[in-house]
Amino acid sequence: MSDCIFCKIAAGQIKSDLVYEDDTVVAFRDINPQAPVHVQVIPRRHIENAAALTDEHRDLIAHLILVAAQVARDEGVEEGGYRLVANVGPQGGQSVPHLHIHVLGGRAMAWPPG
Ligand code: 5GP
Ligand code: ZN
Repeated sequence: MSDCIFCKIAAGQIKSDLVYEDDTVVAFRDINPQAPVHVQVIPRRHIENAAALTDEHRDLIAHLILVAAQVARDEGVEEGGYRLVANVGPQGGQSVPHLHIHVLGGRAMAWPPG
């Protein structure tokens, strides 16, 4: 999608602090971190959010979660625990309409979220 900020990050058209990339997935540090570790894990291809997923995305979404877990491991937050978040739509708090998994760690998380 030509005007999507995360598509541009995935394509390298907007600079980001990449922590992982492969053919289908990119992970980069959040520009406005809400925890000591705050990384976004996204598919390279544009998918709006979890509500737009279909059976054809099955392998991709499995890979996305595996990469999120690997990022948490690499960032040193696996032992203490961490949170994976996928906001969906306006009431879900989604501000960027390109599927992303937040990897948040390095501090205790509150529940319920706001
Ligand atoms: P959402 O609110 O959609 O769940 O999460 C979007 C996230 O993307 C926010 O945490 C926000 O800080 C982050 N973000 C928005 N624009 C940029 C950007 O240009 N670069 C980076 N690295 N993160 C961004
Ligand atoms: Zn996009």
